[in-house]
Amino acid sequence: MSPASFPKNKRAPLYRDVPDEKWNDWRWQLSNRLNTAEEFEKVLPLTESERKALSTSGLFRVDITPYFASLIDPADPHDPIRRQVVPLADEIAPFTGMMEDSLAEDRHSPVPGLVHRYPDRVLMLVTTQCASYCRYCTRSRIVGDPSATFSRAEFEMQLEYLKRTPQVRDVLLSGGDPLTLAPKLLDELLGRLREIEHIEIIRIGSRVPVFLPQRITPEFCDTLAKYHPLWMNIHVNHPNEITAELAEACDRLSRAGVPLGNQSVLLAGINDCVHIQRKLVQDLVRIRVRPYYLYQCDLVEGAGHFRTPVAKGIEIIEGLRGHTSGYAVPTYVVDAPGGGGKIPVMPNYLVSMSDHKIILRNYEGYITTYEEPITYQPHDPKTCAYCRNKRSEPGQSGVTGLLDGDEMFIKPEHFDELHNRGGGQHRLRADSDKWKPLGIGSGEEL
Ligand SMILES: *Cc1c(COP(=O)(O)O)cnc(C)c1O
Repeated sequence: MSPASFPKNKRAPLYRDVPDEKWNDWRWQLSNRLNTAEEFEKVLPLTESERKALSTSGLFRVDITPYFASLIDPADPHDPIRRQVVPLADEIAPFTGMMEDSLAEDRHSPVPGLVHRYPDRVLMLVTTQCASYCRYCTRSRIVGDPSATFSRAEFEMQLEYLKRTPQVRDVLLSGGDPLTLAPKLLDELLGRLREIEHIEIIRIGSRVPVFLPQRITPEFCDTLAKYHPLWMNIHVNHPNEITAELAEACDRLSRAGVPLGNQSVLLAGINDCVHIQRKLVQDLVRIRVRPYYLYQCDLVEGAGHFRTPVAKGIEIIEGLRGHTSGYAVPTYVVDAPGGGGKIPVMPNYLVSMSDHKIILRNYEGYITTYEEPITYQPHDPKTCAYCRNKRSEPGQSGVTGLLDGDEMFIKPEHFDELHNRGGGQHRLRADSDKWKPLGIGSGEEL
Protein backbone atom coordinates (compact mmCIF):
# COMPACT_ATOMS: atom_id res chain seq x y z
CA MET A 1 0.00 0.00 0.00
CA SER A 2 1.39 3.40 -0.87
CA PRO A 3 1.18 5.86 1.95
CA ALA A 4 -0.38 9.23 1.33
CA SER A 5 2.18 11.27 -0.58
CA PHE A 6 3.13 14.68 0.69
CA PRO A 7 5.97 16.95 -0.45
CA LYS A 8 9.34 16.39 1.12
CA ASN A 9 10.99 19.28 2.93
CA LYS A 10 13.02 21.15 0.29
CA ARG A 11 15.62 22.57 2.70
CA ALA A 12 16.44 26.27 2.53
CA PRO A 13 19.52 26.96 0.31
CA LEU A 14 21.63 27.51 3.44
CA TYR A 15 21.18 23.83 4.35
CA ARG A 16 21.51 22.20 0.93
CA ASP A 17 25.08 21.06 1.62
CA VAL A 18 24.40 19.68 5.08
CA PRO A 19 25.03 15.90 4.93
CA ASP A 20 21.84 13.83 5.24
CA GLU A 21 22.98 12.12 8.41
CA LYS A 22 23.23 15.51 10.08
CA TRP A 23 20.00 16.90 8.64
CA ASN A 24 18.13 13.78 9.75
CA ASP A 25 19.64 13.85 13.25
CA TRP A 26 17.30 15.50 15.72
CA ARG A 27 20.22 16.61 17.86
CA TRP A 28 21.72 18.47 14.90
CA GLN A 29 18.36 20.09 14.23
CA LEU A 30 18.08 21.24 17.84
CA SER A 31 21.59 22.62 18.08
CA ASN A 32 21.29 24.48 14.77
CA ARG A 33 18.06 26.31 15.55
CA LEU A 34 17.66 29.89 14.33
CA ASN A 35 17.27 32.53 16.99
CA THR A 36 19.05 35.75 16.08
CA ALA A 37 18.32 38.32 13.38
CA GLU A 38 21.68 37.53 11.73
CA GLU A 39 20.86 33.84 11.48
CA PHE A 40 17.39 34.52 10.16
CA GLU A 41 18.71 36.81 7.44
CA LYS A 42 20.67 33.86 6.02
CA VAL A 43 17.40 31.95 5.51
CA LEU A 44 14.77 34.63 4.95
CA PRO A 45 15.05 38.38 4.48
CA LEU A 46 13.46 39.92 7.57
CA THR A 47 10.82 42.62 7.45
CA GLU A 48 11.25 45.75 9.50
CA SER A 49 8.68 44.59 12.02
CA GLU A 50 10.42 41.23 12.46
CA ARG A 51 13.81 42.88 12.86
CA LYS A 52 12.39 45.25 15.44
CA ALA A 53 10.82 42.38 17.39
CA LEU A 54 14.03 40.36 17.36
CA SER A 55 15.96 43.27 18.85
CA THR A 56 13.45 43.76 21.69
CA SER A 57 14.64 42.74 25.13
CA GLY A 58 12.37 40.47 27.14
CA LEU A 59 10.83 38.95 24.01
CA PHE A 60 9.33 35.47 24.42
CA ARG A 61 11.98 32.97 23.36
CA VAL A 62 12.65 32.51 19.66
CA ASP A 63 14.01 29.27 18.22
CA ILE A 64 13.18 27.54 14.95
CA THR A 65 14.53 24.22 13.72
CA PRO A 66 16.21 24.35 10.30
CA TYR A 67 13.62 21.78 9.19
CA PHE A 68 10.66 23.99 10.10
CA ALA A 69 12.31 27.20 8.84
CA SER A 70 12.82 25.46 5.48
CA LEU A 71 9.04 25.14 5.06
CA ILE A 72 8.74 28.94 4.91
CA ASP A 73 8.49 30.70 1.55
CA PRO A 74 11.16 33.37 2.14
CA ALA A 75 9.52 35.73 -0.35
CA ASP A 76 6.21 35.83 1.53
CA PRO A 77 6.09 37.93 4.70
CA HIS A 78 2.60 36.48 5.40
CA ASP A 79 3.71 32.87 5.03
CA PRO A 80 1.54 30.86 7.47
CA ILE A 81 4.51 28.99 8.95
CA ARG A 82 6.63 32.10 9.26
CA ARG A 83 3.87 33.93 11.12
CA GLN A 84 3.62 31.14 13.72
CA VAL A 85 7.29 31.24 14.71
CA VAL A 86 8.95 34.51 13.62
CA PRO A 87 8.01 37.35 15.98
CA LEU A 88 6.46 40.63 14.81
CA ALA A 89 6.66 43.98 16.56
CA ASP A 90 2.88 43.57 17.21
CA GLU A 91 3.77 40.91 19.73
CA ILE A 92 4.79 43.58 22.21
CA ALA A 93 1.43 45.40 22.01
CA PRO A 94 -0.94 44.91 24.95
CA PHE A 95 -4.67 44.42 24.28
CA THR A 96 -7.93 44.56 26.22
CA GLY A 97 -8.45 41.37 28.15
CA MET A 98 -4.81 40.33 28.11
CA MET A 99 -3.74 38.12 31.01
CA GLU A 100 -0.57 36.42 32.10
CA ASP A 101 -2.06 33.10 33.20
CA SER A 102 -5.31 33.35 31.27
CA LEU A 103 -6.45 29.81 32.08
CA ALA A 104 -5.75 30.22 35.82
CA GLU A 105 -3.58 27.12 35.67
CA ASP A 106 -1.44 28.27 38.56
CA ARG A 107 -4.51 28.39 40.80
CA HIS A 108 -5.38 24.80 39.86
CA SER A 109 -1.95 23.45 40.74
CA PRO A 110 -1.90 21.37 43.94
CA VAL A 111 1.86 20.91 43.42
CA PRO A 112 4.12 22.85 41.04
CA GLY A 113 3.65 21.89 37.40
CA LEU A 114 0.54 19.76 37.92
CA VAL A 115 -2.80 21.26 36.90
CA HIS A 116 -5.79 19.42 38.36
CA ARG A 117 -8.72 21.24 36.75
CA TYR A 118 -11.05 18.37 35.81
CA PRO A 119 -12.34 15.58 38.02
CA ASP A 120 -10.54 12.57 36.56
CA ARG A 121 -7.52 13.89 34.69
CA VAL A 122 -4.52 16.11 35.19
CA LEU A 123 -2.18 18.15 33.07
CA MET A 124 1.43 17.54 33.97
CA LEU A 125 4.00 20.09 32.85
CA VAL A 126 7.24 18.14 32.57
CA THR A 127 9.51 20.66 30.85
CA THR A 128 9.60 24.30 29.80
CA GLN A 129 11.51 23.55 26.58
CA CYS A 130 10.17 23.18 23.04
CA ALA A 131 11.76 22.30 19.71
CA SER A 132 10.59 25.67 18.33
CA TYR A 133 8.46 28.34 19.99
CA CYS A 134 4.96 29.31 18.82
CA ARG A 135 4.47 33.07 19.07
CA TYR A 136 0.95 32.63 20.49
CA CYS A 137 2.07 30.20 23.23
CA THR A 138 -0.58 29.99 25.94
CA ARG A 139 2.11 29.21 28.51
CA SER A 140 4.67 31.84 27.52
CA ARG A 141 4.79 32.87 31.21
CA ILE A 142 6.78 29.71 31.95
CA VAL A 143 7.82 28.19 28.62
CA GLY A 144 11.18 28.85 27.02
CA ASP A 145 13.19 29.85 30.08
CA PRO A 146 16.53 28.19 29.30
CA SER A 147 17.46 28.04 32.98
CA ALA A 148 14.25 26.22 34.01
CA THR A 149 14.28 22.65 32.74
CA PHE A 150 13.05 19.38 34.17
CA SER A 151 13.08 19.38 37.97
CA ARG A 152 13.40 16.02 39.63
CA ALA A 153 12.18 17.37 42.96
CA GLU A 154 9.00 18.70 41.35
CA PHE A 155 8.50 15.44 39.47
CA GLU A 156 8.64 13.50 42.76
CA MET A 157 6.05 15.86 44.25
CA GLN A 158 3.82 15.39 41.21
CA LEU A 159 4.10 11.61 41.53
CA GLU A 160 3.27 11.79 45.24
CA TYR A 161 0.15 13.81 44.49
CA LEU A 162 -0.92 11.37 41.79
CA LYS A 163 -0.40 8.38 44.09
CA ARG A 164 -2.65 9.84 46.74
CA THR A 165 -5.32 11.02 44.27
CA PRO A 166 -7.05 7.90 42.97
CA GLN A 167 -9.70 9.75 40.97
CA VAL A 168 -7.01 10.66 38.44
CA ARG A 169 -7.25 8.08 35.67
CA ASP A 170 -5.75 10.13 32.83
CA VAL A 171 -2.44 12.00 32.89
CA LEU A 172 -1.67 14.44 30.13
CA LEU A 173 2.01 15.25 29.70
CA SER A 174 2.69 18.67 28.32
CA GLY A 175 4.94 21.63 28.98
CA GLY A 176 6.84 22.81 27.03
CA ASP A 177 7.17 19.74 24.90
CA PRO A 178 7.67 16.37 26.62
CA LEU A 179 9.38 14.97 23.53
CA THR A 180 12.29 17.39 23.99
CA LEU A 181 13.23 15.60 27.22
CA ALA A 182 16.30 13.41 27.12
CA PRO A 183 15.10 9.99 25.84
CA LYS A 184 16.16 8.18 29.04
CA LEU A 185 14.38 10.70 31.21
CA LEU A 186 11.12 10.43 29.29
CA ASP A 187 11.36 6.65 29.47
CA GLU A 188 11.83 6.83 33.23
CA LEU A 189 9.01 9.31 33.65
CA LEU A 190 6.54 7.14 31.72
CA GLY A 191 7.66 4.11 33.69
CA ARG A 192 7.09 5.84 37.02
CA LEU A 193 3.60 6.92 35.95
CA ARG A 194 2.79 3.40 34.80
CA GLU A 195 3.60 2.10 38.29
CA ILE A 196 0.55 3.96 39.60
CA GLU A 197 -2.29 1.54 39.16
CA HIS A 198 -5.23 3.93 38.96
CA ILE A 199 -3.67 5.81 36.04
CA GLU A 200 -5.47 4.20 33.13
CA ILE A 201 -4.25 6.28 30.22
CA ILE A 202 -1.27 8.50 29.53
CA ARG A 203 -1.42 11.18 26.90
CA ILE A 204 1.32 13.31 25.42
CA GLY A 205 0.78 16.72 23.85
CA SER A 206 3.67 17.44 21.50
CA ARG A 207 4.59 19.55 18.51
CA VAL A 208 7.87 17.68 18.02
CA PRO A 209 6.51 15.58 15.09
CA VAL A 210 5.79 18.91 13.34
CA PHE A 211 8.93 20.89 14.29
CA LEU A 212 11.35 18.00 14.46
CA PRO A 213 10.00 14.80 12.83
CA GLN A 214 13.56 13.39 12.96
CA ARG A 215 12.95 12.77 16.66
CA ILE A 216 10.34 10.10 15.96
CA THR A 217 12.83 7.29 15.43
CA PRO A 218 11.92 3.59 15.49
CA GLU A 219 13.72 3.25 18.86
CA PHE A 220 11.72 6.13 20.26
CA CYS A 221 8.47 4.50 19.11
CA ASP A 222 9.57 1.27 20.81
CA THR A 223 9.99 3.22 24.03
CA LEU A 224 6.49 4.67 23.80
CA ALA A 225 4.99 1.28 22.98
CA LYS A 226 6.09 -0.03 26.39
CA TYR A 227 3.61 2.23 28.13
CA HIS A 228 0.27 1.60 26.44
CA PRO A 229 -2.46 2.73 26.50
CA LEU A 230 -0.65 5.88 25.42
CA TRP A 231 -2.26 8.52 23.22
CA MET A 232 -0.73 11.55 21.55
CA ASN A 233 -2.03 14.88 20.33
CA ILE A 234 0.13 16.74 17.85
CA HIS A 235 -0.30 20.38 16.84
CA VAL A 236 -0.65 21.25 13.16
CA ASN A 237 -2.26 24.55 12.13
CA HIS A 238 -1.82 24.74 8.39
CA PRO A 239 -1.67 22.23 5.51
CA ASN A 240 1.87 23.44 4.63
CA GLU A 241 3.09 21.72 7.80
CA ILE A 242 2.06 18.32 6.47
CA THR A 243 5.16 16.98 4.75
CA ALA A 244 6.46 13.54 3.82
CA GLU A 245 8.57 13.71 7.00
CA LEU A 246 5.57 14.43 9.24
CA ALA A 247 3.56 11.72 7.46
CA GLU A 248 6.34 9.22 8.14
CA ALA A 249 6.64 10.21 11.79
CA CYS A 250 2.88 9.80 12.24
CA ASP A 251 2.94 6.48 10.44
CA ARG A 252 5.60 5.20 12.86
CA LEU A 253 3.65 6.39 15.86
CA SER A 254 0.44 4.83 14.58
CA ARG A 255 2.18 1.54 13.90
CA ALA A 256 3.55 1.65 17.43
CA GLY A 257 -0.08 1.70 18.55
CA VAL A 258 -0.27 5.35 19.55
CA PRO A 259 -3.62 6.85 18.48
CA LEU A 260 -2.99 10.34 17.14
CA GLY A 261 -5.09 13.46 17.47
CA ASN A 262 -4.48 17.04 16.48
CA GLN A 263 -5.01 20.28 18.34
CA SER A 264 -4.97 23.46 16.25
CA VAL A 265 -5.23 27.05 17.28
CA LEU A 266 -7.40 29.38 15.22
CA LEU A 267 -5.00 32.15 14.14
CA ALA A 268 -5.76 35.39 12.31
CA GLY A 269 -4.09 35.53 8.91
CA ILE A 270 -2.84 31.94 9.21
CA ASN A 271 -5.73 29.50 9.22
CA ASP A 272 -8.84 31.67 9.74
CA CYS A 273 -10.45 30.34 6.58
CA VAL A 274 -12.91 27.53 5.93
CA HIS A 275 -10.98 26.37 2.85
CA ILE A 276 -7.61 26.19 4.58
CA GLN A 277 -9.21 24.37 7.52
CA ARG A 278 -10.97 21.89 5.27
CA LYS A 279 -7.71 21.04 3.50
CA LEU A 280 -5.93 20.82 6.86
CA VAL A 281 -8.36 18.37 8.45
CA GLN A 282 -8.63 16.25 5.30
CA ASP A 283 -4.83 15.99 5.04
CA LEU A 284 -4.66 15.11 8.73
CA VAL A 285 -6.98 12.13 8.36
CA ARG A 286 -4.90 11.01 5.36
CA ILE A 287 -1.94 10.66 7.74
CA ARG A 288 -4.24 8.98 10.32
CA VAL A 289 -4.39 11.93 12.66
CA ARG A 290 -7.85 12.66 14.00
CA PRO A 291 -8.62 16.39 14.42
CA TYR A 292 -9.44 16.70 18.12
CA TYR A 293 -9.72 20.35 19.14
CA LEU A 294 -9.67 23.65 17.32
CA TYR A 295 -8.87 26.25 19.99
CA GLN A 296 -9.95 29.83 20.10
CA CYS A 297 -6.75 31.85 20.69
CA ASP A 298 -6.21 32.50 24.41
CA LEU A 299 -6.08 35.98 25.94
CA VAL A 300 -2.38 35.70 26.45
CA GLU A 301 0.33 38.33 26.24
CA GLY A 302 1.93 38.46 22.81
CA ALA A 303 -1.03 36.85 21.06
CA GLY A 304 -3.28 39.88 20.50
CA HIS A 305 -2.66 40.08 16.76
CA PHE A 306 -3.51 36.37 16.35
CA ARG A 307 -6.99 36.63 17.81
CA THR A 308 -10.10 36.19 15.66
CA PRO A 309 -13.71 36.68 16.70
CA VAL A 310 -15.30 33.48 18.05
CA ALA A 311 -17.75 33.84 15.14
CA LYS A 312 -14.90 32.86 12.78
CA GLY A 313 -14.57 29.51 14.51
CA ILE A 314 -18.30 28.88 14.29
CA GLU A 315 -18.18 29.72 10.59
CA ILE A 316 -15.35 27.20 10.14
CA ILE A 317 -17.25 24.42 11.91
CA GLU A 318 -20.30 25.29 9.79
CA GLY A 319 -18.08 24.73 6.75
CA LEU A 320 -16.77 21.38 7.99
CA ARG A 321 -19.64 19.49 9.65
CA GLY A 322 -21.55 17.61 6.96
CA HIS A 323 -19.31 18.95 4.23
CA THR A 324 -16.52 16.49 5.01
CA SER A 325 -15.89 13.24 6.94
CA GLY A 326 -17.07 13.35 10.52
CA TYR A 327 -13.65 12.01 11.50
CA ALA A 328 -12.13 15.20 10.13
CA VAL A 329 -14.25 17.61 12.19
CA PRO A 330 -12.63 18.86 15.40
CA THR A 331 -14.49 20.25 18.40
CA TYR A 332 -14.11 24.01 18.46
CA VAL A 333 -13.44 25.16 22.04
CA VAL A 334 -12.93 28.36 23.93
CA ASP A 335 -10.65 27.73 26.89
CA ALA A 336 -12.48 30.02 29.27
CA PRO A 337 -10.46 32.77 30.92
CA GLY A 338 -10.26 32.52 34.67
CA GLY A 339 -10.02 28.74 34.68
CA GLY A 340 -13.47 27.87 33.32
CA GLY A 341 -11.89 25.17 31.21
CA LYS A 342 -12.69 24.21 27.64
CA ILE A 343 -16.13 25.14 26.43
CA PRO A 344 -17.31 23.78 23.07
CA VAL A 345 -18.95 26.25 20.72
CA MET A 346 -20.72 25.33 17.51
CA PRO A 347 -23.50 26.35 15.15
CA ASN A 348 -27.05 25.63 16.32
CA TYR A 349 -28.63 22.64 14.68
CA LEU A 350 -31.64 22.48 17.02
CA VAL A 351 -34.13 24.99 15.59
CA SER A 352 -37.16 24.51 17.82
CA MET A 353 -39.15 21.98 19.84
CA SER A 354 -42.53 21.12 21.30
CA ASP A 355 -43.44 18.42 23.82
CA HIS A 356 -43.47 15.75 21.13
CA LYS A 357 -41.31 17.02 18.31
CA ILE A 358 -37.99 18.63 17.71
CA ILE A 359 -37.09 20.70 14.68
CA LEU A 360 -33.59 20.29 13.31
CA ARG A 361 -31.65 21.77 10.44
CA ASN A 362 -28.74 20.09 8.67
CA TYR A 363 -25.60 21.55 7.09
CA GLU A 364 -27.51 22.19 3.85
CA GLY A 365 -30.20 24.21 5.56
CA TYR A 366 -32.72 21.37 5.18
CA ILE A 367 -35.19 21.68 8.05
CA THR A 368 -36.73 18.52 9.40
CA THR A 369 -38.58 17.09 12.38
CA TYR A 370 -37.91 14.26 14.77
CA GLU A 371 -40.97 12.85 16.49
CA GLU A 372 -40.19 12.18 20.15
CA PRO A 373 -41.33 8.80 21.56
CA ILE A 374 -44.63 8.96 23.44
CA THR A 375 -43.86 5.94 25.57
CA TYR A 376 -40.30 6.14 26.72
CA GLN A 377 -39.18 3.54 29.28
CA PRO A 378 -35.87 4.73 30.69
CA HIS A 379 -33.47 2.21 32.18
CA ASP A 380 -33.84 1.72 35.92
CA PRO A 381 -31.10 3.54 37.85
CA LYS A 382 -31.99 1.56 41.00
CA THR A 383 -30.95 -1.73 39.45
CA CYS A 384 -28.12 -0.27 37.36
CA ALA A 385 -24.71 -1.02 38.86
CA TYR A 386 -23.16 1.98 37.14
CA CYS A 387 -25.80 4.36 38.50
CA ARG A 388 -25.42 2.99 42.01
CA ASN A 389 -21.64 3.35 41.95
CA LYS A 390 -21.47 6.82 40.53
CA ARG A 391 -19.41 9.20 42.60
CA SER A 392 -18.09 12.64 42.13
CA GLU A 393 -16.28 15.18 44.23
CA PRO A 394 -18.64 17.65 45.89
CA GLY A 395 -19.29 20.51 43.50
CA GLN A 396 -18.06 18.51 40.52
CA SER A 397 -21.27 16.95 39.26
CA GLY A 398 -21.93 20.03 37.13
CA VAL A 399 -24.92 20.51 34.91
CA THR A 400 -25.31 16.75 34.59
CA GLY A 401 -25.88 16.70 38.35
CA LEU A 402 -28.86 19.01 37.81
CA LEU A 403 -30.26 16.58 35.27
CA ASP A 404 -29.96 13.46 37.36
CA GLY A 405 -31.59 15.05 40.37
CA ASP A 406 -28.65 15.23 42.76
CA GLU A 407 -28.69 19.01 42.73
CA MET A 408 -31.44 21.52 42.15
CA PHE A 409 -29.39 24.54 41.16
CA ILE A 410 -25.93 25.94 40.70
CA LYS A 411 -25.55 29.29 42.46
CA PRO A 412 -23.20 32.16 41.80
CA GLU A 413 -20.97 33.08 44.72
CA HIS A 414 -22.66 35.26 47.41
CA PHE A 415 -26.09 34.45 45.97
CA ASP A 416 -27.56 33.55 49.35
CA GLU A 417 -26.33 36.67 51.15
CA LEU A 418 -27.59 38.90 48.36
CA HIS A 419 -31.03 37.30 48.29
CA ASN A 420 -31.44 37.22 52.02
CA ARG A 421 -31.74 40.97 52.51
CA GLY A 422 -34.42 40.77 55.18
CA GLY A 423 -32.65 37.98 56.98
CA GLY A 424 -35.67 35.83 56.12
CA GLN A 425 -37.89 37.37 58.83
CA HIS A 426 -40.70 38.50 56.61
CA ARG A 427 -42.78 35.63 55.39
CA LEU A 428 -44.97 36.65 52.56
CA ARG A 429 -47.79 34.32 53.48
CA ALA A 430 -50.49 36.12 55.52
CA ASP A 431 -51.39 33.08 57.61
CA SER A 432 -47.97 32.62 59.11
CA ASP A 433 -47.48 34.22 62.48
CA LYS A 434 -44.19 32.54 63.18
CA TRP A 435 -41.18 32.91 60.88
CA LYS A 436 -38.46 30.52 60.26
CA PRO A 437 -35.63 30.81 57.81
CA LEU A 438 -36.22 28.82 54.65
CA GLY A 439 -33.36 26.75 53.34
CA ILE A 440 -33.13 27.72 49.73
CA GLY A 441 -33.42 24.70 47.54
CA SER A 442 -34.31 22.50 50.51
CA GLY A 443 -37.55 21.62 48.84
CA GLU A 444 -39.39 23.70 51.42
CA GLU A 445 -40.97 26.33 49.24
CA LEU A 446 -43.24 29.24 49.96
C1 LIG B 1 -7.15 20.52 28.16
C2 LIG B 1 -6.90 20.10 29.52
C3 LIG B 1 -7.10 18.78 29.92
C4 LIG B 1 -7.59 17.71 28.98
O1 LIG B 1 -8.87 18.01 28.52
P1 LIG B 1 -9.63 17.00 27.56
O2 LIG B 1 -10.88 17.75 27.19
O3 LIG B 1 -9.87 15.77 28.34
O4 LIG B 1 -8.74 16.76 26.38
C5 LIG B 1 -6.87 18.45 31.23
N1 LIG B 1 -6.45 19.37 32.12
C6 LIG B 1 -6.27 20.66 31.77
C7 LIG B 1 -5.85 21.64 32.81
C8 LIG B 1 -6.48 21.08 30.46
O5 LIG B 1 -6.27 22.35 30.12
